Amino acid sequence: MELQTNELLQKMPVLYSTEEIPTEDKIIVCKFFLLNGGWTWYVVEGEEREDGYYLFYGLVDGTEREWGYFTLHELESVSWQGIPGIERDLTFAPVKVSECRELRPKSNDSHYVDPAQGKKQSQDTFFAETNCQRCGKELKVRIMSKMNEDVICPECAEAEKKHPLYEVAGRAELAEVKAGNYNYPGLFAGQKYPFDSK
Ligand SMILES: [Zn+2]
Repeated sequence: MELQTNELLQKMPVLYSTEEIPTEDKIIVCKFFLLNGGWTWYVVEGEEREDGYYLFYGLVDGTEREWGYFTLHELESVSWQGIPGIERDLTFAPVKVSECRELRPKSNDSHYVDPAQGKKQSQDTFFAETNCQRCGKELKVRIMSKMNEDVICPECAEAEKKHPLYEVAGRAELAEVKAGNYNYPGLFAGQKYPFDSK
């Protein structure tokens, strides 16, 4: 099955174009999923790169939930004995992040803390950052800062957008990602937010 259709690509907002829209109000345009379960990719932006590969930005729901970049090529390259491993959900209708039922916290989510039960101890060291590295709040949705390597909450991600150097840092990251560097640590890597620029 073809993961994308030209029609879908045409209505996809280009990278960075929904930057002004708060995370919870962004529109998920389409959804890809791993056939044997466990991983889902929710796409909010995408465009064709100069090398012809399609680059997406969206929420990756796997061992954790994280916003980031991924390519159509990566998704298409997952297969077992020639059978594609990832499909696009053809029944998925565009929906706001906050209104996507599948993204509500699950009770078996190791990040999810039942208010009645209090804080649970995470078993997996991969989940070491259970709290926002800026405000300390419990993380249900993890967002990688566009300025340094902090794992932050949606509120801090919104606050970061008002930083005077956010635009500069964001453009620098986008340029790196477009060039194929998905591990770019950010223009202010190693520095503590808000970077005290005097
Ligand atoms: Zn925070």
